[in-house]
Amino acid sequence: MALCAPSISVRICTSTGLQRRRFAPSSRTLKPRATAAVETKSPTAVGGGGDGKLLLEVKDLSAVIAESKKTILRGVNLSIHEGEVHAVMGKNGSGKSTFAKVLVGHPDYEITGGSITYKGQDLLEMDPEERAIAGLFMSFQSPVEIPGVSNIDFLNMAYNARRRKLGLPELGPIEFYGYVAPKLELVGMKIDFLNRNVNEGFSGGERKRNEILQLAVLGAELAILDEIDSGLDVDALRDVAKSVNGLLTSQNSVLLITHYLRLLEFIKPTYIHIMENGRIVKTGDISLAEILEKEGYKAISSA
Ligand code: ADP
Ligand code: MG
Repeated sequence: MALCAPSISVRICTSTGLQRRRFAPSSRTLKPRATAAVETKSPTAVGGGGDGKLLLEVKDLSAVIAESKKTILRGVNLSIHEGEVHAVMGKNGSGKSTFAKVLVGHPDYEITGGSITYKGQDLLEMDPEERAIAGLFMSFQSPVEIPGVSNIDFLNMAYNARRRKLGLPELGPIEFYGYVAPKLELVGMKIDFLNRNVNEGFSGGERKRNEILQLAVLGAELAILDEIDSGLDVDALRDVAKSVNGLLTSQNSVLLITHYLRLLEFIKPTYIHIMENGRIVKTGDISLAEILEKEGYKAISSA
């Protein structure tokens, strides 16, 4: 979720990809452009090839856990263009969440090699807050609770933090309520959700919806969604996927981490990547996820 510290003095540091431009209300389904699974053993960045501008380019990225210096990422290559949906799949422990967290500047990790360019800028030179202001949003695999802070106050605070940075007027509580209320419908949440403390007592599904509500309120050019399908029943999954689709435009992109084909049947990916041992070892289209579903990772493993 969108913060570093679970306290009222929250430093908005990761997922406040705020509203530079509103997301289009209509849904847009992106067609897979890659037709066959391809191996990606060369250091050349993979993905891309779309019509949109290059948004993110990751080259040979390696990273260690800051505390133990254990290597987790071992040369990740990935390019994302505007309007593309990229799914990253892979066994538990392959480095998917680490990759996502490194993108938003999580302090648990240190970069030991490679580069990340975002909208033409060196992302690694930007602190987490600057990344958020530049439109990077991440929904965490396990969103944290913030006792004592209501959802609406939190959202209002996060929204205004970015408005301030962008030199835009802040919205007071009443104006903000008018802005946020219609968005609840998009994520299938009732109005009383706004008055509950952030994630406190929320079910798994409610937490995930809440993450998407944050994305809807704050906006993002690149939304990184880590296992938004975990803990969801099929109906909730469909709702959450529908909300994500409702936020897609030809200008923004999504990096979706998932284990399941069923999410990708709702949110159509442009590309699917397989992560293994800290690297993207294969890139392809939906057929890669279909093989995975039927035969497991051994069918596509590079080992
Ligand atoms: P995935 O999301 O693909 O399941 P992760 O990126 O969460 O994988 O983790 C990759 C490996 O790095 C795992 O062995 C995990 O235990 C370890 N790891 C990731 N982050 C940390 C951390 N902050 N402290 C210690 N170990 C970590
Ligand atoms: Mg993970």
